[in-house]
This record gives sequence, structure tokens and C-alpha cells, in this order.
Amino acid sequence: MPSKEPKSYGGKRITVTYDGGRCLHAAACVRGLPEVFDSGRRPWVQPDGAAPERVAEAIRRCPSGALQYRLADDGPTEEPDRPTTVARSPAGRLVMRGELHVTTADGTVRRETRAVLCACGVSGNQPFCDDSGACSGD
Ligand code: SF4
Repeated sequence: MPSKEPKSYGGKRITVTYDGGRCLHAAACVRGLPEVFDSGRRPWVQPDGAAPERVAEAIRRCPSGALQYRLADDGPTEEPDRPTTVARSPAGRLVMRGELHVTTADGTVRRETRAVLCACGVSGNQPFCDDSGACSGD
């Protein structure tokens, strides 16, 4: 499905955004910081559940870039990994980290630090994997 506008979860010192159209449901967030990310709770993101630095650290482990953050008071933004890396998952999707300029289906160029790109062509959110195709689950 095409990506809708990411959902925003405002905390006192950090705002978390979540783009469900890019989430691979690998649960790195839920396992990494369950005080903040809990899919059994509503809202499932509680930005004030841990120190903002820990929330940011957990978000940087989200491989797909579905989760992003913005620290209050002009806190540091996420630095891209250097060097940029690209790896193929066992089912073929491309896992990328670094200084990425990703051209979307409508021609927009998005600056990203983390992304997983579709390998099977089925994703409705090209070029991102939306976890709907043959490579779902790896
Ligand atoms: S892709 Fe990101 S937001 Fe989705 S479950 Fe994995 S870590 Fe969480």
C-alpha cells in the first residue's frame, strides 16, 4: 500500500514519527525498548517512556527507516552511517544505511539514513519494501 503521511508521537523532549508503509515488522524497536514501543498498547509509541537519547538510539536501529525522530531544542539530528552500506537480505531486498538520496515513484528525492528497498517489485510503496511481497519476513 502507498505510504500515508507518517504518524507523529510528540513527547516532552523528543518527537517520534512512524511510517507504517515502510515497516517490516521485524520488531527491533519493540524488543529494543519495550518501555517506549509496545504494539499491544495504544498509542503504541510512548516517547516519554525512556530518556530521549535512548529512544533515539533505539530508532537508529530500525532498519527500514519507518521510525524517525526529532529531538527538542535543536538537539542533534541523526548522522548517516559512513561509509554507506548496502546488503542483500536472504530473500533479496536491499538493506541500506548511510547518506541516501532515494527517488520515489513520483520523482521526489528523499534524503534518508536508513532504508530497505523492494526486491520483488510487489511493494505498493516503491522503491521501499512495504513487507507485502515475496520477500516478506526475512
Ligand atoms: S521496521 Fe522499524 S518500526 Fe517496524 S518493527 Fe522494525 S524496528 Fe520497528
